[in-house]
Amino acid sequence: MPEGDTIFRTARALSRALVGKPITGFRSTFPLLTRFNDDTPLVGQLVESVESRGKWLLIHFSGGGTLATHMLMSGSWHIYRPGERWQQPNGNMRIVIENSDYLAVGFRVPVARMHTALSLARDTKIPRLAIDVLSQEFDAGAAARRLIAHASEEIADVLLRQEVLAGVGNVFKSEICFVTAVNPFCKVAALSQEQVTGLISAAQKLVAANVLEDSGDEIVTYGGRKRRTTHESDPSASLWVYSRKGEPCRRCGELIRRRLQGPDARVTFWCPRCQPMPDGSDIDG
Ligand SMILES: [Zn+2]
Repeated sequence: MPEGDTIFRTARALSRALVGKPITGFRSTFPLLTRFNDDTPLVGQLVESVESRGKWLLIHFSGGGTLATHMLMSGSWHIYRPGERWQQPNGNMRIVIENSDYLAVGFRVPVARMHTALSLARDTKIPRLAIDVLSQEFDAGAAARRLIAHASEEIADVLLRQEVLAGVGNVFKSEICFVTAVNPFCKVAALSQEQVTGLISAAQKLVAANVLEDSGDEIVTYGGRKRRTTHESDPSASLWVYSRKGEPCRRCGELIRRRLQGPDARVTFWCPRCQPMPDGSDIDG
């Protein structure tokens, strides 16, 4: 699943290609989108803005409609010049938005719906801006209260809850726990207030660092800017713990552990020495 930083960068790229330009073409394989377009044609409207909210991408049109898409595991948006060869088969096309300069093509987008301002506000699946770690309106204090409300759950599972912190995905989950020295299997109830504050602040910082203009496609939490050498084509080279099972911890040299965690059995990585359980118990990797 794309992390929040990926969706943010997609929104930025789509924004540059689409915002302020009249739409010259719209196609979709989603019947509800084509029906909306039949009733309220998008051709001639402008794209007013494109934004990410957690893992949702929202395209706002001047006629008042908003196209909301969620990529899940499979979907992606590409931008092409007219006539440019697509990098995916035509059969994967789900949505095309065209202007005189570009085509934005949504491939294998699994979830798409057209919203009015009212239905968008009522759609509880799409996070409000205040809970997106990348939003200017993000409210860290409120995020801490939402997190603490899941007292009986393990912290790494709660970090993945999009209604608690929108924009944190499975890679960031492990990295956030490492940089705050919190064991990912620790119950939320056992965390100190400082740890809760630190986790939320780390979530904001790590995700934000990966949406800078010069940040590449790989997630980087370790070593600052990614150096583009062949050796570092391995994404884990830029991470503290994720995907580094059995390799030495970058802080203490202990071997990094890996374990499936939570109801969805998502993979978690951690250092047993840097991230001890509060009661001193050992979690097998
Ligand atoms: Zn360590």
